[in-house]
Amino acid sequence: MYTRVKTQSEQQAMRDSGRMLADTLNLLKRELEPGMTTKQLADMAAKELKALGAEAPFLGYGNPGFPDVICISVNEQVVHGVPGARVIESGDIVSLDFGVRYKGMTTDSALSVIAGGKPKQQRHAELVEFTEKAMLAGVAVLQEGVRTGDIGAAVQIVLDRKRYGIVRDLVGHGVGHHLHEDPNIPNYGRPGSGPELHAGMTIAIEPMATLGGEAVYVGDDDWTILTRDGSWAAHFEHTVLITEDGAEILTDRG
Ligand code: MG
Ligand code: MG
Repeated sequence: MYTRVKTQSEQQAMRDSGRMLADTLNLLKRELEPGMTTKQLADMAAKELKALGAEAPFLGYGNPGFPDVICISVNEQVVHGVPGARVIESGDIVSLDFGVRYKGMTTDSALSVIAGGKPKQQRHAELVEFTEKAMLAGVAVLQEGVRTGDIGAAVQIVLDRKRYGIVRDLVGHGVGHHLHEDPNIPNYGRPGSGPELHAGMTIAIEPMATLGGEAVYVGDDDWTILTRDGSWAAHFEHTVLITEDGAEILTDRG
């Protein structure tokens, strides 16, 4: 399904969904500490979602169905990490990718954080910082008539400048009635190319960057995406509503 211009009531449901998502990610970010397992964090997210009266679009998604409400990916795991017994260590890059469905509308957002706040290497902190900057650069070009290539080019400029690997096998996407709607929103591209987007459409912009190459593979659990070269990765994502002259970040954590 191609992402549709959302009605006012659909936009409001996504605003509510996005607020719940942002609050939950903020909670997890606060509670995350070295020594916890990724499953402990996931259980916290599930409990919070239940308390909010919202649903988990990730649970059972795809084939095989994703087994949890949140993806938690550590270090060389880029995205789609399955929560489990892995113990988070001080200095790990932990990426939390979460979705919320409320009144039939879905939002999708992710962040990366250095566990314990102290990076093992300064370049890990920089990777986190600049991957978020790349996402925001993509948001900054949004307006009526923007093309997917405009977004991709804006994201790419930030990541290329740092010589990061840009994961190309996975991309941003339309979102709202479904977790994944067309069109794809790649994290690279040429300005003026690709499908045109309009005010009232909702999309997820989500750069995935590595300190090495762009190649990735799927792990033994059939879900986790890892860097081929073992380099560490970061991931940021916001669901945004395109407006006439800009955008509204529906999953804003501020
Ligand atoms: Mg996501
Ligand atoms: Mg997404």
